[in-house]
Amino acid sequence: MDVTVFSAKPYDRRFLEAANAPAGHRLSYLEARLSTETSSLAEGAGAVCVFVNDEVSADVLARLAAMGVRLVALRAAGFNNVDLEAARRVGVIVARVPAYSPHAVAEHTIALILTLNRKTHRAYNRVREGNFALDGLLGFDLAGKTAGVVGTGKIGEVVCRILSGFGCTVLAHDPQPNTGCERMGVRYVPLEELLSLSDIVSLHCPLTPATHHLIDAEALARMRHGVMLINTSRGAMIDTKAALRGLKDGTIGRLGLDVYEEEADLFFEDLSQRFIGDDVFARLLTFPNVLVTGHQAFFTEEALTNIAETTVGNITSFERTGRAVHEVSVERIAW
Ligand code: NAD
Repeated sequence: MDVTVFSAKPYDRRFLEAANAPAGHRLSYLEARLSTETSSLAEGAGAVCVFVNDEVSADVLARLAAMGVRLVALRAAGFNNVDLEAARRVGVIVARVPAYSPHAVAEHTIALILTLNRKTHRAYNRVREGNFALDGLLGFDLAGKTAGVVGTGKIGEVVCRILSGFGCTVLAHDPQPNTGCERMGVRYVPLEELLSLSDIVSLHCPLTPATHHLIDAEALARMRHGVMLINTSRGAMIDTKAALRGLKDGTIGRLGLDVYEEEADLFFEDLSQRFIGDDVFARLLTFPNVLVTGHQAFFTEEALTNIAETTVGNITSFERTGRAVHEVSVERIAW
């Protein structure tokens, strides 16, 4: 199949080329993000391959369908950037990578927790400058603390296992409790209870209308003063302006983000020679107790291999049968 790959970085090309070698699809790589303005670049392709910040809106889908594109192959698990209803209307199939190394994201979550707690990023710089003072580096034992995991699917389950291994009491909230978590001693509680009892809250559910701004001013008001809040799921699950107020009044003691609600204009690009025009994001970076990574939780050898192989598998099965292996359809999503 002819496939236009949007938002393609050198690492995408490396892993997709390896996965595609046996299949032999003709992949054209574009650095451009898919949007109304760039959709015409898919002319002549039967499929487009997109990532988390590509814009797969109704308008874009109508343009793609008119050009003969029949498949949108997401190189991601989340599909909140796709208008599924519009895709159904114009007859475009949407496929994703439902699972790829949940360990990659779970382990990055733990990296954020440990770094924010023990401040190894600050210690690294201090020691290199000959400063061996410990003031400002005080952390706490994870053992004995209560961690609240919101969303215990594939990634949340691994997070629960690792935190249990540290000796944390793990609480969880999920409309569909996971028996694997229950077996390891995780206790499911209503969200309000989780928020009020947890020293650490970590978000691992998909972004849906129900989870948009799940952590807003009201939710923050329920949380323990000085809570550590971690988000490696999707940025818009946290109301960032409310989080800024929570940081200022001390409600949030530590904030670790791998995702940000307006990340599309920032992440995955080297903007070091420019200025950051997003004042809310710039304000976030002024807090010493905020740690932001640029949507890199998925970024391991194993995850990229899985993503590329599943994506090529989706394209191959669509070419052969008209159906992708891992389709997402509006009918199957209950929200
Ligand atoms: P999953 O589908 O296996 O699990 C999601 C869980 O969230 C399910 O158990 C579901 O029941 C639960 N859930 C749904 N609505 C909820 C709600 N309102 N409250 C609590 N729980 C709710 O998904 P996964 O593979 O574990 O991934 C979780 C999310 O992580 C993805 O949707 C994606 O947005 C994000 N993600 C981020 C990265 C990254 O690089 N930062 C990479 C992969 C995935």
